[in-house]
Amino acid sequence: MQPFPGRIDSKLPHVGTTIFTVMSRLAQEHDAINLSQGFPDFDCAKELRDLFCTAINSGLNQYPPMAGVPVLRERIAEKMQRLYGSHYDPEHEITVVPGATYGIFTAVATFIRPGDEVILFEPAYDSYQPAIETLGGKAVFVALELPDYHVDWRKVQAAITPRTRMLILNTPHNPTATVLCAEDMRMLEAILRGTDIVVVSDEVYEHIVFDGHAHQGVARYPGLAERSFFVSSFGKTYSVTGWKMGYVCAPRELMAEFRKVHQFNAFVACAPVQYAFAEYMQNPAPYLELAAFYQAKRDLFRQGIAASRFTLMPSRGSFFQCVGYDAVSDERDTDLAIRLTREHGIASIPVSVFYNVPRYEKVLRFCFAKSDATLQRGAEILCRI
Ligand code: PMP
Ligand code: GLN
Repeated sequence: MQPFPGRIDSKLPHVGTTIFTVMSRLAQEHDAINLSQGFPDFDCAKELRDLFCTAINSGLNQYPPMAGVPVLRERIAEKMQRLYGSHYDPEHEITVVPGATYGIFTAVATFIRPGDEVILFEPAYDSYQPAIETLGGKAVFVALELPDYHVDWRKVQAAITPRTRMLILNTPHNPTATVLCAEDMRMLEAILRGTDIVVVSDEVYEHIVFDGHAHQGVARYPGLAERSFFVSSFGKTYSVTGWKMGYVCAPRELMAEFRKVHQFNAFVACAPVQYAFAEYMQNPAPYLELAAFYQAKRDLFRQGIAASRFTLMPSRGSFFQCVGYDAVSDERDTDLAIRLTREHGIASIPVSVFYNVPRYEKVLRFCFAKSDATLQRGAEILCRI
């Protein structure tokens, strides 16, 4: 094809290919153990696969209702009530979407006008800033505080201006594996009281909180729920990241605006998958058991590298483990991640890429949503470095 003859005025001039794609590709090229991109290397439940096939073979293959299949929305409402004591009306306040990333992008597109400011915590999951900037908004960063990546709420308060329209929250947090506690949520509730700020709360790891703690999300806090889009992902909960399916819950007035955008964007999410989830969700065991399942993997991986020269940081939720590497190398994390993949056959994610202006704090992120054998092999390699 001939090159485009005009001028390309990129909306995202500094954006390249996502680090997840880059590192997974490199891992494949070098036949390395891939602890970089966050996805399970094991299959989902057979029952769920069978339900999907049954839905397809039952002819449930045409457009579902725009907001999602009603029975699935009802199940989601029941779950939100049971888990968080929050009431979302399935008719008006729950929308099934093709993935959490889409839900977040659509929420941003619904509210952000050129010049509007959106507060982000950094390191930030990599889709937030491009979503904001594609819409002409401005990302305002509040850095999480080392050594444990906690939030300094005074800095959040100080970041709010008359242009602040939105704040994106993420707990459990990717990439740092920290979680917000009840006190954090109360602080945020107090800071936002009396403002028009909308919260987009990325809670895709809501079921992966460790050490007996309860997940603290916006739905538990009326002062936050009334201004929030709660976003979850079936991909994380049921180990089907490739099915790209999630849902969004928000008060009726916010959701009405969200649906105006959604209906002209994706319009709907895949129908047969929705019927499969509606059936599968009747049994809460798979999501209630998820934290223990991943905690065992976290502990296996941590024990495996305890004797290495890497320093273990806390992993309180999600399926990630961050490590410091002061004793291993003086390289930048971006260089080290590439070298470890090429020379040692183990792929990770450099955390500096999740900062607007990279901070080379010498931290790598490893994903432990992998089979035990893979984690053991990965840990053995790390112990030799
Ligand atoms: N938010 C965070 C924090 C994530 O880690 C991910 C997953 N990879 C997503 C959103 C995207 O979820 P989905 O695949 O459902 O779009
Ligand atoms: N969220 C996953 C991770 O953090 C990857 C998703 C993606 O590849 N975009 O690794």
